[in-house]
Amino acid sequence: MFNPIELRKPSTLLEAVSDLATYGFDARIIAGNTALYELAAQGGLDDVHILIDSSRLGLDYIRSGTDGRLHVGATTTFSQLAKNKHCLQGRNAALGEAASRISPPQIRNMGTIGGSISIGLPFLDMPVTLLALDAEINVMSKDGRKTIKIDDFFVDYFTTALNPEDLITEIVFPEEDGSSEKKEEERGGNSQRSVGFSAFIKIGRTTVDFAVINCAVCLEIERHESKSKSPLVEKARVALGCVGNKPIRRRDIEALLENSELNRATIESAALLPVDFEPSPSIHASPSYKKKMITVSVREALYTLLDRMNSATPIS
Ligand SMILES: Cc1cc2nc3c(=O)[nH]c(=O)nc-3n(C[C@H](O)[C@H](O)[C@H](O)COP(=O)(O)OP(=O)(O)OC[C@H]3O[C@@H](n4cnc5c(N)ncnc54)[C@H](O)[C@@H]3O)c2cc1C
Repeated sequence: MFNPIELRKPSTLLEAVSDLATYGFDARIIAGNTALYELAAQGGLDDVHILIDSSRLGLDYIRSGTDGRLHVGATTTFSQLAKNKHCLQGRNAALGEAASRISPPQIRNMGTIGGSISIGLPFLDMPVTLLALDAEINVMSKDGRKTIKIDDFFVDYFTTALNPEDLITEIVFPEEDGSSEKKEEERGGNSQRSVGFSAFIKIGRTTVDFAVINCAVCLEIERHESKSKSPLVEKARVALGCVGNKPIRRRDIEALLENSELNRATIESAALLPVDFEPSPSIHASPSYKKKMITVSVREALYTLLDRMNSATPIS
């Protein structure tokens, strides 16, 4: 039975990582408590005796850093993400979209981005989104700080690259159009620039259920001054959740999209690429149903992105 004997309330990161180092597997960080509570109720925390409250560590922030990247503190809630302008536009739009699709509102108000990825559940909405957005996870322990790339973060059900003594401090997202200046230089200052766009799609039994399939896509495109030309995809990341023991990337679709113009023909070819793996079944969806929903979600994400690109302000 879950029977914690102490609630630690560190007010600095150093205190928190010192507690984690001292108690190791005997302790768990507690953030919104929406997943821990459930785990405890199901007997999954019987060996845990110390809880370490992360609410006083100053990690609830969303800010654009001096490095031009978006920094989101680990204890930032889904509600905060869903209404922050940095998470609702351009390359990071999928972040705000995914947060707003988490249901019910009580979970949006309490659940945190850090808790959502630490738990290692492949059907939640943040893991697939962070995978598409190419996020980096900044982690601190008593041995210092490290950064884990999102491609290396998810390992298996309930298993991530985190060690028991690791505390996630923040999640960092690439620059909106970080490569543009470099690219302009490389091309001798011509007028093409690369810009990021992203979209999140969730298909569930109902709109308030967990996803049966969730999909996030991030495209970096080369925009021309002329709107008459289709946008050229420079880089694509297409991520799927609910299909196995961790969220995955569809590298076959990414390869088809890269160096292609994004138009109806490309979108249909990309969405219709055969799903050559067997998605894991769930109580609400068979593998064959999931395969169909993968096609539907990829198509919907790409058309959403095409609309966003077409209605974006032309580059001057
Ligand atoms: C009724 C209900 C509905 C839900 N609906 C959805 C939904 O629609 N979509 C969706 O995606 N999810 C949904 N969820 C899941 C929800 O997203 C997770 O429960 C939530 O993200 C966990 O975050 P938390 O802050 O509550 O984490 P906690 O429960 O506090 O912690 C979860 C895990 O993360 C660890 N942890 C937390 N913070 C850190 C940190 N900074 N560093 C290291 N480890 C850390 C904890 O030790 C623990 O192991 C739902 C949950 C419930 C109960």
